Amino acid sequence: MFEPAYLKLYKSNKLNKRIEQLYAILKNCHLCPRKCEVDRTKNEKGTCRSGIDLIVSSIGPHFGEEEPLVGNGGSGTIFLTNCNLRCIYCQNYEISHLGRGGIMSPKEVAKGMLYLQKIGCHNINFVTPTHFVPQLVESIKIACETGLRLPIVFNCGGYESLKTIKLLDGIIDIYMPDIKYGSVPFGLSLRAKPHHPEELKDSDKSPAEKYSNAPDYFERCKEGVKEMHRQVGDLKIVDGIAQRGLLIRHLVLPNDLAGSEKVLKFIVEEISLDSYVNIMDQYRPMYKANNYLELNRRPLLSEYNQVIELAKSLSLHRGFQKRLILIT
Ligand code: SF4
Repeated sequence: MFEPAYLKLYKSNKLNKRIEQLYAILKNCHLCPRKCEVDRTKNEKGTCRSGIDLIVSSIGPHFGEEEPLVGNGGSGTIFLTNCNLRCIYCQNYEISHLGRGGIMSPKEVAKGMLYLQKIGCHNINFVTPTHFVPQLVESIKIACETGLRLPIVFNCGGYESLKTIKLLDGIIDIYMPDIKYGSVPFGLSLRAKPHHPEELKDSDKSPAEKYSNAPDYFERCKEGVKEMHRQVGDLKIVDGIAQRGLLIRHLVLPNDLAGSEKVLKFIVEEISLDSYVNIMDQYRPMYKANNYLELNRRPLLSEYNQVIELAKSLSLHRGFQKRLILIT
């Protein structure tokens, strides 16, 4: 019978210590690689524009996630408001940039988790949790005391601090990071004609810096994903439902702005050939993407298929087969 990771920590009384350690990080916040060093316990705010209060956009079953998360009952999503990455093309910008959501206490979120369990969801899926890790782990503890037994999914943007991920060891069952960029510098062929003179100085920045203001994205992401994989291993699916492991997402961007080859090679060479990789084709220019000529369109089918073919040629074999069949 499935037993979630956090139950063992809870039973051995180690969960409280983790919560303390995580809240301590908020005092000079370095929960993520931005290292803003603001005192969030006094409601000071850094890049993620979040203080001490947990802000939630929605709680409910979601049927649009990856098949092994959805099953028949859906994935129990809890969408957190704001974000530490703030990509200019964010597909959920109303939540991540515009702050749509309301304050909830950890106790109220715990109640929401128990509700999702009661209605038959297969997991608790925290969407964009990075900047609220201490408060969410407190919620997990409260929910665990009152009967939560579902696996926790950490559904993040991949710009993570190694220290924070290490403190989640034994709490998270399923890590679902994006790997957004392989940190490719702009090639001449990809460089767009700037719309405004001030963009000229932007033209030599890598996509991670230009679109997410995170020049060290790939380095931090690689460290974090390696640690996630060390903790939970490859994705384990039992009777069609994910129980534990790493599920990687990679969104294909137009003009190879995501540096897909470097991302896939990293997965093959430093994670595992059995990695479950969802190669996503749903990019659309949203929010401020139309200020950037090179980002202002959907990826072509040929661009997407090229990434799929590359994944196959590198011997990756989990997570993207079905879409390949539909497209080719
Ligand atoms: S979690 Fe927010 S305040 Fe803390 S370091 Fe990251 S962006 Fe800055």
